[in-house]
Amino acid sequence: MSTIFINAAQVVTCSGPPRARRGAEMNDAGILDGAGVAVVEGSISAVAPREDLERQHPDAEIIDCGGRVLTPGLVDSHTHAIFGRARYEEQEQRAAGVGYMEIARRGGGIHSSVADLRSRSEDDLYSLARDRVARLASYGSTTIEVKSGYGLSLDDELKSLRVVARLSRDLPVRLVPTWLGAHEIPLDYRESDSRRRDYIHLLVHQMLPLIAAEGLARFADVFCEPGVFTVDETRSILQASAAAGLGIKLHADELEPHGGAELGVELGAVSADHLGAISDAGIAALASSSTVATLLPGTMFFLGRHRQAPARRMIDAGAAISLATDFNPGTSPTFNFPLILTLGVSQLRMTVAEALVAATVNGAAALGLAARTGQIAPGYSADLALWEAEDVREIPYWYGDRRCMGTWVRGKPCHSHKPADNLNLSRPPEPGSARQSRP
Ligand SMILES: [Zn+2]
Repeated sequence: MSTIFINAAQVVTCSGPPRARRGAEMNDAGILDGAGVAVVEGSISAVAPREDLERQHPDAEIIDCGGRVLTPGLVDSHTHAIFGRARYEEQEQRAAGVGYMEIARRGGGIHSSVADLRSRSEDDLYSLARDRVARLASYGSTTIEVKSGYGLSLDDELKSLRVVARLSRDLPVRLVPTWLGAHEIPLDYRESDSRRRDYIHLLVHQMLPLIAAEGLARFADVFCEPGVFTVDETRSILQASAAAGLGIKLHADELEPHGGAELGVELGAVSADHLGAISDAGIAALASSSTVATLLPGTMFFLGRHRQAPARRMIDAGAAISLATDFNPGTSPTFNFPLILTLGVSQLRMTVAEALVAATVNGAAALGLAARTGQIAPGYSADLALWEAEDVREIPYWYGDRRCMGTWVRGKPCHSHKPADNLNLSRPPEPGSARQSRP
């Protein structure tokens, strides 16, 4: 069973070695004009001129890209897609200057998401998450990392990760589950240092062994930030997680520099994420390591903060950057990964090639999948996205628009979207309708 993708204006391959691109390497997205892509048994077998591919695969199904742009499917390496209620009321409160602590006192913030998730059944969470993951996929993502972290109890963290496992079986998109039991100290463990230690004990000695035994997570993540988990606590949780066979990631240096990036490098984390306040020492540590720096500019944008992670300095120092949505109900409720690319270019001052590499091959590296997805190259999974664009620079340019026309995962159709198919532009307004203008 073979398929040939022909007639693309550009094929953005992002091809090269099976590892993250760092520093100046990020500026080469491998854009080809006039190339076709052959897929056999779900894997890319060749990237070559159309005539060569048609000769080699005379019986192949032909997919005509119609003069549009074909890229690797996007890899969204940081989402918190398992939650219940939306938290839209906090947006106006923040705009009015209400602080984080006061929002929490009024019943908002992460603890409200925890209480809400705990009250819901697995089936309820599944149907909410299924819709949300489908929306994420509709913007061009073919691999999506999904964290737990709004349960913060043994049963509720297991419930969240079981939802991810069910979605993984039921949906064509590739999902990567991450256990984030260390997202926050739950309210009932905050009254004393010894209760706090009890929670860390629960994480390491009860949750982790069960999650590892059931194979419910590929990564462990910790929110390492002053006021949440300290560097030493983060180290002990992540070391235990690595010993249990999980890969490790961490939320680090989001608001204050406190050695989170350096800790990630010390522990061999696959990624250190956020880094809005990374120190020069943290940049130097990342630049000399294989840890990917995952930047989440949508979060700072949505919160109305003016400071963004110093992507330019990080790339110039030789670090590997990935971009992700940070999709979550509190600080980044967007499904739109291409909008994050726009922010990468406009706010983080990345080139379009750097942003594309950050959202494909480097996102894959941030999930330990650099040899499987994120590139259009022989041997890679046929995870592809077709865009309503003649030039790849249109993807971040038409900001906020949904230009993704279709995606394929392992060579099978995942998402499809006909452009402008619901507009009825040719139909005149009906008489007496609200569209009639009044003098
Ligand atoms: Zn996060």
